[in-house]
Amino acid sequence: MESISRRRMLALSSLTCGPLAELAFGSAAGAKRPNILFIMTDDHASQAISCYGSKVNQTPNLDRIAREGMRMDRVFATNSICTPSRATILTGKYSHLNGVPVFNRFDGSQPTVAKMLQKTDYYTAMIGKWHLGSDPTGFDYWNILPGQGVYNNPTFYDKDGSETYKGYATDVITDITIDALKNRPKDKPFFMMSHHKAPHREWTPDEKHRKMFEHKHIPEPANLRDDYSGRTDALHEQKQSVFRDLTRRDLKLKPPAGLSGAELNQWLGVKPMEVETEIDGVRKTLRGKELEDWKYQRYMQDYLACVQSVDDNVGRQLDWLDANGLRENTVVIYTSDQGFFLGEHGLYDKRFMYEESLRMPFLVRWPGVIRPGSTSSAIGINCDFAPTFLDLAGAPAPTDMQGRSFLPIWEGKTPRDWRGAMYYRYYHDPGDHNTRAHYGIRTATHKLIYFWKKDQWECYDLAADPHEMRNIYNDPKAQKTVSMLKQELYRLKKEMRDDDQFANEQPKESSYVQAPPPRKR
Ligand code: CA
Repeated sequence: MESISRRRMLALSSLTCGPLAELAFGSAAGAKRPNILFIMTDDHASQAISCYGSKVNQTPNLDRIAREGMRMDRVFATNSICTPSRATILTGKYSHLNGVPVFNRFDGSQPTVAKMLQKTDYYTAMIGKWHLGSDPTGFDYWNILPGQGVYNNPTFYDKDGSETYKGYATDVITDITIDALKNRPKDKPFFMMSHHKAPHREWTPDEKHRKMFEHKHIPEPANLRDDYSGRTDALHEQKQSVFRDLTRRDLKLKPPAGLSGAELNQWLGVKPMEVETEIDGVRKTLRGKELEDWKYQRYMQDYLACVQSVDDNVGRQLDWLDANGLRENTVVIYTSDQGFFLGEHGLYDKRFMYEESLRMPFLVRWPGVIRPGSTSSAIGINCDFAPTFLDLAGAPAPTDMQGRSFLPIWEGKTPRDWRGAMYYRYYHDPGDHNTRAHYGIRTATHKLIYFWKKDQWECYDLAADPHEMRNIYNDPKAQKTVSMLKQELYRLKKEMRDDDQFANEQPKESSYVQAPPPRKR
């Protein structure tokens, strides 16, 4: 603990003495500063992690991080979609300040936490899914998937060109991460981002786990058949419904023999309202509710099987750290770029500000500093990650970063003036899921959402209605609360310097497979 306070004091002195002092401190503090291993998956909902109370699966290795460290229960994405969340994590800034509100190309010339850590003499590395359109900057080593990448035999590329790896993406990303750890310079602390593709759509499991959930009945969430009564147009108009919008590709239906190219793609892209399949050895045509039930099970079986490989690989990574003397001085973080709907409100995907999509799982282990088995309900946002990394390195966060360091929370001393509400803004409207643009706030007890292109509001009492089924915006008894929340919303919007810079930004579709550069050599 003492060394952290010392680091803080030094960080403060460097803040007052400018960048040169910062550099001097960086080299002086040397090996005492902790390593940072940041493991992030893509679209992993906390309700599919057993230490968060999952009813659908068991994740013993992720639970191990929580058991040996802390589970944070209220860490939220400020714009719940892949590319914007990644840009926010790197910059510590909201989408409207880092220039990535939708699937824009990230301008890598702007300041990022990787560049700042590099300046304080950290060894920086980025492995796996990057998905920011431009190549990584600020990393001593990087090896990334082009665009979304693929699950099987993925191609990666680095500064020298591309290379195809045999195997399953989650295993390969872990292998490359462990290799990078082995080959790192040992005289510096490291900051390593290990970003998985899984469990992103189209949810292709590996061979080991493919059949793990095949004969299991996955419990449905109570609001799988939400009829959206009392809610705004947004839920009615979305195209991310488990029952209506999963395609033959998502459901892994077998195409007729002889189809290829554009014809095959077209067949796979159909959202089937009738499916012929074999159940317990009997061929059957599924329609209506029977088909809906089947779709939910198919979706979840594959999603959860992808998660299981993530869990195995996180275990492998922890074992490697522990076996190589890196347990004590390495901060291990597990998170996902946002949450995901696992049938809640009848949805898959993310984007909406409802809890399952908004909430990022956040588990962290740091032996000797974080009390094992601790939890926190402080409201965190993905803008906090960069200031946290800088705090660990003993470097000050630039004043234009919009988050705060988690360090005092991890030490069990949440500051009294910690934020009481978080601001959210989603832009990608209509986009492929027709999710209506909205902004809003979430406090410890309430949520207020404004669909600005529709001029429609939703308000939820999260204590009384945690599943967000009853919109109290027009409830006469809620008017005082609504008005207070509105005031806080506009105060936060202003404080976060959102003056609608990107309110009219047009959606850009994310390319699933970006062409990799030429092969190495
Ligand atoms: Ca994502």
